[in-house]
Amino acid sequence: MPHSSGTTDSRPTQTVIHRDKDTFLGEDNPFEAMMSRFDRAAELLNLDPGLYSVLRHPEKQVIVSVPVLLDNGEVQVFTGYRVLYSTTRGPGKGGIRFASNVSLEEVKALAAWMTWKCALVNIPFGGSKGGVVCDPNSLSNAELERLTRRYTSSILEILGPDSDVPAPDINTNERVMAWIMDTYSMHKRHTVTAVVTGKPVEMGGSRGRREATGRGCTIAAREAMRRREMPIHGARVAVQGFGNVGSIAAKHLEREGCSIISVSDVSGALYDENGLDVEDLLSWVQNHRFLSGYPKADPIGEHELLTAECEVLVPAAIENVITSKNAADIRAKIICEGANGPTTANADRILDEQGVYVVPDILANAGGATVSYFEWVQDRGGYFWDLETVNLRLERILVQAFDEVATMAERHNVNLRTAAYMLSIERVAAVHRLRGLYA
Ligand code: NAD
Repeated sequence: MPHSSGTTDSRPTQTVIHRDKDTFLGEDNPFEAMMSRFDRAAELLNLDPGLYSVLRHPEKQVIVSVPVLLDNGEVQVFTGYRVLYSTTRGPGKGGIRFASNVSLEEVKALAAWMTWKCALVNIPFGGSKGGVVCDPNSLSNAELERLTRRYTSSILEILGPDSDVPAPDINTNERVMAWIMDTYSMHKRHTVTAVVTGKPVEMGGSRGRREATGRGCTIAAREAMRRREMPIHGARVAVQGFGNVGSIAAKHLEREGCSIISVSDVSGALYDENGLDVEDLLSWVQNHRFLSGYPKADPIGEHELLTAECEVLVPAAIENVITSKNAADIRAKIICEGANGPTTANADRILDEQGVYVVPDILANAGGATVSYFEWVQDRGGYFWDLETVNLRLERILVQAFDEVATMAERHNVNLRTAAYMLSIERVAAVHRLRGLYA
């Protein structure tokens, strides 16, 4: 294999791309969607064929059966996944999601995205991801705790501050991270705070971690507007998803002077051309759980939110919401991807033709991974930073990453997504070359 085994730079001489993009199938398959972007960037980088093959495969994929004693005395067996896509640049880093539609393909894609994301913001982590197939809303708190602890013990040998560090994702939160940390620590016979990030601040969590992804998304949207020479004050913003990422991005964008004209969650979407009051929406959700029923705005459909006339669209809910079916109808000038994988590869081509400036997920939502890194550093050092320090360092890293991506895009005349993949893949590839192939 032509993958270098020394420290000399083995610049590629030939690139093998195994896929005909025009016959690309599986628009909804997240791993395929990720790979089609990877292929394009690898081709432009003229990536060495050996490295190309290595980077197309996850290092480790684990499937576990997780038996859980339910409150009614019955036992239910759940399926759990953990994928370590790459540990080349450091320990695996990636969230755990609890959802009924989690699949291995999805977890693989998310683990790969984490690899590129961590490399893009230049933090010393690889990429991983986990998931358990379950409907957390149908489980009691005690059942959820037993599920979390048993899943953790099933993947215990993978986890560790030096090997794989989980974090929250869809339907997992600080509470779940605390159970994971406790289970791991009980097995190790001492407290290991750095085994997870996104923990409560009282037990080693970082200040600012909870808000980091939404805050980072705001920084990315602001930088995009700056590049496009669009005034941030009065910019109309539509946000899909009003959970951790979406609601905090909406709050911060409103503070920056934007007008949040539309938001949605799983219960429906709301619209007000004069701008919604985000704080008021947050207190409504706190009391009523969902946005539906909010009396001070007009209910609209999801398609109307996605295609609303606005300056910035922030998809911050789930994957595959901007597809070849609706991309042509999008009227936003900027899309800032708070969610992972909200835009399919086919939609990317349509958006490109329309001149929509898409800030890709691995850049737009990298704030969470960045502050997770800060948390891991603080845990290992046993010295905790104040919120101002966290936010300042986050801002610095994200602004630099945005500049590097935008410069790369200009140099190669490609869109931001391709540029972001090129930068991050090249960073992972560079370490591969330096480390060589252990035979
Ligand atoms: P969350 O569970 O807190 O919120 C998700 C929100 O999306 C909820 O408001 C939910 O009602 C809404 N939603 C779900 N399906 C929807 C639909 N079909 N239409 C409209 N709204 C819908 O999750 P989160 O942590 O905010 O994560 C959202 C996305 O951001 C995910 O793709 C996640 O992987 C990604 N992300 C999260 C973080 C983080 O730190 N939390 C970091 C990076 C990326």
